[in-house]
Amino acid sequence: MKDLKLVKQYKGNTPNFFLIAGPCSVESEEQILEIAKFLKQKGIKYLRGGAFKPRTSPYSFQGLQEQGTELLKKVKNQTGLKIVTEVMDTKDIDLISSCADILQVGARNMHNFSLLKELGKTKKPILLKRGLAATIEEFLYAAEYILKEGNQNIILCERGIRTFETSTRNTLDLSAIPLIKSITKLPIIADPSHGTGVKNLIIPMSKAAIAAGADGLIIEVHNNPQEALSDKDQSLNFQEFSLLLKEIDPYLKLNNKNF
Ligand code: PEP
Ligand code: MN
Repeated sequence: MKDLKLVKQYKGNTPNFFLIAGPCSVESEEQILEIAKFLKQKGIKYLRGGAFKPRTSPYSFQGLQEQGTELLKKVKNQTGLKIVTEVMDTKDIDLISSCADILQVGARNMHNFSLLKELGKTKKPILLKRGLAATIEEFLYAAEYILKEGNQNIILCERGIRTFETSTRNTLDLSAIPLIKSITKLPIIADPSHGTGVKNLIIPMSKAAIAAGADGLIIEVHNNPQEALSDKDQSLNFQEFSLLLKEIDPYLKLNNKNF
């Protein structure tokens, strides 16, 4: 990791705990507004929701795209929540920046170096997800690409890696959190939703991520998970998300964190 100059030199200040929640995809005005209002009432400050979706099959729902960005703008104006949404292509950076407070680089794009370079030229915070099969070194080099162009606002995200295990969608590599913290002061959050793909594992893995030193969590929440157009098996309903907040509270307190 000898060339990781900027990642190693980065002098961060300790960020607040980033608790980001919301649906996998923006599906309709009613859906995103209902979820946003619920999250706001729970004290959440960051709403996630994909307008452009990187789907394995080209026949799966691809997101509402431009219309999705309009709905995110609307919900941001109505609730004051900050928006986290994915940018998949350099040509969409301006469009996504018009509605997003944090631009997400998805796991499938962690190696998209032209996207990383262009995002490095913006001033927006970047949520950089670890690639599906990226080593920690490759993950940090992706951050180095963004830093090298001048953007220092990066939040790393451990979202699970592909292993031989099939009982979970991915293997959430929590050891990456303290390991990365020993190399850089860049904040790192965990995504137990994509990291496990299993609803019942999200609360315990959230607690474990906080105990491992995570600077935040990103959690998929839906008003009606059974009908979700993407990632329904891992989306928490309102009651389940309320339970998550209650269950992680002592872990946050123990680690002097609050959102
Ligand atoms: C997502 O956040 O909905 C997503 C597609 O995540 P990832 O890129 O980690 O698979
Ligand atoms: Mn998802």
